[in-house]
Amino acid sequence: MQKLTADYIFPISQPSVKNGIVIVDDNGVISENVIDPANLDYNISDVKPLNGFICPGFINTHCHLELSYLKEKIHEHTGIDKFIIELEQQRKGINEEEKAQALSDAENEMIENGIVAVGDICNDNSTFPLKNKGNIYYHSFIETFSSNPEKADIIFEKALKLYDEIKNKNNSCSITPHAPYSLSKKLFLKIKTFAEKSGNILSIHHQESEEENKFFMSKNGNIKDMLTRFGVTNPDFYNSGLRPLAGIAEYIPNENNLLLVHNTVTTDNDIEFATSYFKNLYWCFCPNANLYIEQRLPDFALFFNNKCKITIGTDSLASNKILSVLAELKTISASIPFVPLTELLKWATFNGAEFLKISHKFGSIEKGKSPGILLIENVDVENMKLIKDTEVKAIA
Ligand SMILES: [Zn+2]
Repeated sequence: MQKLTADYIFPISQPSVKNGIVIVDDNGVISENVIDPANLDYNISDVKPLNGFICPGFINTHCHLELSYLKEKIHEHTGIDKFIIELEQQRKGINEEEKAQALSDAENEMIENGIVAVGDICNDNSTFPLKNKGNIYYHSFIETFSSNPEKADIIFEKALKLYDEIKNKNNSCSITPHAPYSLSKKLFLKIKTFAEKSGNILSIHHQESEEENKFFMSKNGNIKDMLTRFGVTNPDFYNSGLRPLAGIAEYIPNENNLLLVHNTVTTDNDIEFATSYFKNLYWCFCPNANLYIEQRLPDFALFFNNKCKITIGTDSLASNKILSVLAELKTISASIPFVPLTELLKWATFNGAEFLKISHKFGSIEKGKSPGILLIENVDVENMKLIKDTEVKAIA
């Protein structure tokens, strides 16, 4: 049993508590809701005082663990089309041992940075042995893409095989589309039917660059060129005259939990359409990956002002230097300093847990949950802000 106090506790399920007390048992289960010493008329003994903020474990809703071996191998600032081409080239000829080591190093990095649950994109089974160890909670999104409708059946069968393989070991998983521009209508519909039947959660890369908007709205652009290079001559949705999400909406179930990842070039109108059409919608930001690939950040304030449910992702080590939710929060906080820390922490914890359907255990410091307890150190206590040197460690 540990009794912990710090400058502020952020339970997330209730407002922050100055010098609050958290009691957590040896199994990491919260024994009581956060105690406010201002309301106590007795003393609690053996409380360990800490400097900084305490919050629940972080939820990383977007990662590609299988790409961990590509750390520092792909050029920065190339744009998404060249990034994908370079990625395809680098995927070939990899040493399996190095790859496994990179996976385990990446997982350790996430654990050290306070991440307790991950929404992880999979194109193969290379991460499954690590996931079966259960060091972190994973939801595996089996990702599918192919703009060629003739390949839809075979691509879906392959995804189903991976799905069965990871599900057999009691892992949480679903089959999901890669991006609005990279699937045929036929493949989208197969995923839709499957998702409606299973109730599975879905995740899709969305509006990562202006090129995606161009692909849907006009007759040219780098994405069309890239697909041509991959041998796709007449992709569905190309030059449809609609925004990406409006173009594909009827091919995605509108009641399943849906995560839109990146949203770098999303506008007010896009948000309005999305929130009116999809019933259980979440928006994931991976700002450091956006800076790595496109040198551009989403308009965070737009989403905050529209009361969107925001989550945080690290993306992969192919497009990020570190797998740290805190590092992403620092980038966001520097961009929109007017958004309160309690809101940013909700994006990094509770919203992700709710999207992944694990909020019964994770995402807030509440009696009976075992969310992981983090200490955020080197902070601006007076203004309740993260600063450049802010660090995080898992303490329970
Ligand atoms: Zn991604």
